Amino acid sequence: MNQKANILVIYTGGTIGMMKDPETAQLKSVDFNLIYNHVPELKRFNVDIETVSFEHPVDSSEIGVENWKTLATIIRDRYAQFDGFVVLHGSDTMAYSASALSFMFDGLKKPIIFTGSQLPIGTIRTDGKENLITAIEIAAAKNKNGAPLIQEVAVYFDYQLFRGNRCTKDSAENFEAFRSPNFVPLGVAGVHIVYNEDKFYHTQSQEFTVNMDINTKVVLLKLYPGINFELYKGLFNPTNVSAIILESFGAGNAPTSSIFRSLLSDFIGKGGIVLNITQCNSGSVKQGMYATSAVFNDLGVISGRDMTTEAAVTKLMVALNSANTKELLGSNLRGELTLN
Ligand code: ASP
Repeated sequence: MNQKANILVIYTGGTIGMMKDPETAQLKSVDFNLIYNHVPELKRFNVDIETVSFEHPVDSSEIGVENWKTLATIIRDRYAQFDGFVVLHGSDTMAYSASALSFMFDGLKKPIIFTGSQLPIGTIRTDGKENLITAIEIAAAKNKNGAPLIQEVAVYFDYQLFRGNRCTKDSAENFEAFRSPNFVPLGVAGVHIVYNEDKFYHTQSQEFTVNMDINTKVVLLKLYPGINFELYKGLFNPTNVSAIILESFGAGNAPTSSIFRSLLSDFIGKGGIVLNITQCNSGSVKQGMYATSAVFNDLGVISGRDMTTEAAVTKLMVALNSANTKELLGSNLRGELTLN
């Protein structure tokens, strides 16, 4: 019997697989199969590795819904064949893609580990080698029953493993590019990889399914002092916009101006959905804690609690076409929020 785990590595694009174009000095994606030239250690791994690449690898600033569907389709079609999946992805929007996939898949019982790098894998000081090798090791890890240790979508970057829908990119410079503001890391890699097993997410669903019905009529509105709501009137139109995510202040607070209130109440009255998350770097929305957020409860604004912006945007996109969107938004679907 073959005890080796078999892992599918999917290259979507991003710095990890890029090289400098000698003429323009810009970073561009190269043939991913060349990865073995840069990481020959992969050949010595006690893991069977197969690779597949997007036909046209992209800088992750170009990633969109169609790419998420392509990625989900690659994984769905090979789900039975592999023990785990490593997704190589640009770090810029990695947290969005990891969040999106976490919501698109239901009943996931295998690891999908996103990773990438700040420096291309061909450069001497690259962080890509370690990120790739350890991501594969994590994807191949088994629990004491021989099942995959990680059974959710996660991001591995610079020695830390995060829940995909809990992390955010917070540095364009440091190798430590991600953090998980409201949830402890799932693991930390030192000499040994130390896992926080009691924090792992385990699905309750028996069947493995993927939801490709994504609705992008979602708007993100960050509040700021002095905001002129007149300029934003067009957004509060349910014919064009199905849902608005408010990035509010502190524990979910906002100006109490009458124009803002009437925009919200008209929009919600006509079937629009408003989700409230905080623009703070950590912590949670607590609607009603201050007078400046109590009105949200009266108007039917949904509290996004401690969700990241990435989780809120992608959760809304995936949940918007379901029959019970509001209920789903307030629920903890994939470990993305903390219910007090
Ligand atoms: N611009 C790149 C991307 O996100 C940066 C990276 O890969 O880290 O695709």
